[in-house]
Amino acid sequence: MSNTPSTPDVENASLEDRLYTVKYEDPGESHLDVQVVGFCVERCTTDDCVDVCPADVWRKDEDGEPVIAYENCLECGSCRFACPYNNVVWEYPENGSGVTYQYG
Ligand code: SF4
Ligand code: SF4
Repeated sequence: MSNTPSTPDVENASLEDRLYTVKYEDPGESHLDVQVVGFCVERCTTDDCVDVCPADVWRKDEDGEPVIAYENCLECGSCRFACPYNNVVWEYPENGSGVTYQYG
């Protein structure tokens, strides 16, 4: 029996189904961060990084500090441009790690 997952119906797949087709290689350390620690808590009123991320990478803890699940990042770059304070540090993961798309 093959270990290859069956091909999902990408024409009608939910976002969760589509995310299931994405392969991640954990680079071991985050390629995402914030420029100024504390700014997100003290000054940010929009949380655009949280709202814009399609993979729920950005969340806020109970103190308002960002928690970044970088392992799930789709490398779309949206958080980098959405932050109105230019407070996102965004780099590509190390070579050979990060996201691999199965379709397109
Ligand atoms: S949008 Fe920018 S300033 Fe606001 S929480 Fe996100 S990273 Fe911090
Ligand atoms: S690059 Fe895209 S997927 Fe990755 S954290 Fe930013 S918004 Fe989320």
